[in-house]
Amino acid sequence: MGNSVCLDGKAPTGAPRRIHARENSPRPNDPNFLTSTACLVMVPPMLNTLNRLSLSVAALLFAIGFIANAQQAPAGPPTELHKIKEGVYEIANIDANLDAIRKYGGNVLVYPTNDGVILVDSKFEPMHDDIMAKVKSLTDKPVKYVILTHNHADHSGGAAKMSAMGATIIISADDLENMARAPNHAWLPEVGYSGRAQLHLGGKEVQLYEVRGHTKGDTLVYLPVERVVESGDLFATVEELPYIVDYSSGGGWMDLSNEIDELLKLDFDLVVPGHGPPVTRQDVVKIRNRVVAIRERFRALNREKKTQEEIGQTLMKEFGWGKEPAPGNIPGMMQELR
Ligand SMILES: [Zn+2]
Repeated sequence: MGNSVCLDGKAPTGAPRRIHARENSPRPNDPNFLTSTACLVMVPPMLNTLNRLSLSVAALLFAIGFIANAQQAPAGPPTELHKIKEGVYEIANIDANLDAIRKYGGNVLVYPTNDGVILVDSKFEPMHDDIMAKVKSLTDKPVKYVILTHNHADHSGGAAKMSAMGATIIISADDLENMARAPNHAWLPEVGYSGRAQLHLGGKEVQLYEVRGHTKGDTLVYLPVERVVESGDLFATVEELPYIVDYSSGGGWMDLSNEIDELLKLDFDLVVPGHGPPVTRQDVVKIRNRVVAIRERFRALNREKKTQEEIGQTLMKEFGWGKEPAPGNIPGMMQELR
């Protein structure tokens, strides 16, 4: 899964380091809490001085679709807490639709341990209190780590507040770079990793796998004991939400299906996607086949020199795929899938 390069431009070197979290060393200036088979990257000061690149059309669509809507304060109880396996919970929007995603963001996985809580993703920033209320209904332990599946605000928007509370935020080095490129970013996660990493807390283990699909640095978060994976936005299980690649963040459709194959190599029972209800291994196989079918139908239509509009219409008719914000995806797909 993924060649990895450290943010400082050096290739990952050396044998895997196996170093475990310790109760008294949770902060990222102590690298001893993560194991990485490639490299572990602390946020270097240079990231803050990177030139701000202009957003592409695709990124703007994401911004319009998600980030702008995040500024509205949510009304009413937007989410509920589900136990999905013994010791593993998710915070999910009550309404599994696009409107709720735009208001509240994606799923949050909650993994309590005796030494603190590990969260995967953090919804939009205004959802912080809602998330914390649900975590507190499970345990009085603090949130120690928040792993971000990727850079998009509907997953990462709440992380700054978690960081301010003392949690360490972890994301792939590639998506850390994506976050650093965003104009006016006020804050960046403390830790980026490349390739694979393991996190140990309170006797529990979490494995991180960096893959490329939805963005160039998606993270699969695997709980090997509970046999659960949080897969971020490699796919969504909300009917209204099509599979989306963010080309401006370095994603790709070929990678999308390849990485679902990588996901299938993990020994799991349930996958919690970034949006929508959890799915079984059998469901993931079906999703993988659908992604490949859409991809190859797209390639055929593209070779027939169909227009963007015709391709969108055909895919919507044949697969129910292509509703917003997928149209923002089609120009990039036309470049990639020739
Ligand atoms: Zn996303």
